Amino acid sequence: MEPVIQVKHLKKYFPIKGLFFTKGHVKAVDDISFEIYKGETFGLVGESGCGKTTTGRTILRLIEPTAGEIIFEGKNVMKFSKEEMKEFRRKAQIMFQDPYSSLNPRQTVFDIIMEPVKFHGIEVDDPEEFVVKLLESVGLNEMHLYRYPHEFSGGQRQRIALARLMALKPQFIVLDEPTSALDVSVQANILNTLKDLQSEYGFTYLFISHDLGVVKYMSHRIGVMYLGKLVEIGPSDRIFENPLHPYTQMLLSAIPVPDPELAQELKAKRKMVKGEPPSPINPPTGCRFHPRCPFAKEICKKEEPPLVKVEENHYVACWLYAKS
Ligand code: SF4
Repeated sequence: MEPVIQVKHLKKYFPIKGLFFTKGHVKAVDDISFEIYKGETFGLVGESGCGKTTTGRTILRLIEPTAGEIIFEGKNVMKFSKEEMKEFRRKAQIMFQDPYSSLNPRQTVFDIIMEPVKFHGIEVDDPEEFVVKLLESVGLNEMHLYRYPHEFSGGQRQRIALARLMALKPQFIVLDEPTSALDVSVQANILNTLKDLQSEYGFTYLFISHDLGVVKYMSHRIGVMYLGKLVEIGPSDRIFENPLHPYTQMLLSAIPVPDPELAQELKAKRKMVKGEPPSPINPPTGCRFHPRCPFAKEICKKEEPPLVKVEENHYVACWLYAKS
C-alpha cells in the first residue's frame, strides 16, 4: 500500500540569535523518518519539548524544514508550485489544542466554516444545508449555525474546528493535542467522533499527544520521540505489551494503573530512570537518552544507535538491540 505521507530524514533546527551572530541551534527535530498509510492513525508521543509538535507543523510546512523530504501522495511537498501548495493546504489540515484562538470571535459558525470553502473555490449548491450537514456530522446542529464562538463550550468549539476542516474534504489531518485542554468526559466524546469520522471518510491522522493512554486508544501505530529523535516505532498493541526502548518503558510506567501490584512494579522501573531531559541545544553525544538510562554502556555515550527492526513492524534505536 502507498503511504499518504512519507517523512524522510526530516530536520528542523531553530537558530539561537546572538547580538552579531547565531550562537547555536535548538535541534527540535533531528533526522526522523516515518510514513503514514491511508486510513491509519500514527500516534506521536513524548515528553514536552521532544519535538512532536514541531514535527506536525513542519510536515504541513507551517514551519519550513531545515532539511529532509516530505512526500505527500507520491510528490515532494518541498518542490510544490504555488498551485500545488494551495491544493496541499486544502488536503492536509491541522486541528490545534486550543480551538478558541483559531476561531474568529467576530464570525458566526456559518462564516467560520464557509470562509475556507470560498477561499479554495469549492462549489456548494446550498451553503446553509452544506454547513448544517457538517455540523450534524460532528454532533452539533442547525441551532448553532449563527452563533459566535464565545457561546460554546471548549468541546463544542473543537467540534466547530473539526467541521471547518472537514468542509475542505482533507485526506490527511494533524491532530495536535486536540483534547488536552478539555475535561475528561468531553475528551472521550471528541476522540470517539474523530474515530467515527475516520471510519466513515477514511481520514489519515497524525495524532500528537503527551498522553500515552489517549495515543493508545487512537493509534494503529505509535512513534516515540525523545529529544528530536524517533527512538521506537511499532504497532500500538506491541508498544504497550512489549516496549523495547528504555525511554518507552519509562513513559509507560508513568501511566496510572488500577492494579496496585503492577503499579508497584512499574514505579520501581520508573525509579531506575534518572533526571530530566537534557537541553536540545546541546544534546548528549551518542544515544541522547544515555545520561538517564539505567542500561547505558560505553558505546551509548559515543555512538548514536540506528533504528533497527526487532520484529514485524517494530523498530527501536537502542544499542541493546543493534549490532555495533
Ligand atoms: Fe540506554 Fe544505550 Fe539503549 Fe540509549 S542505546 S537507551 S543509553 S541502552
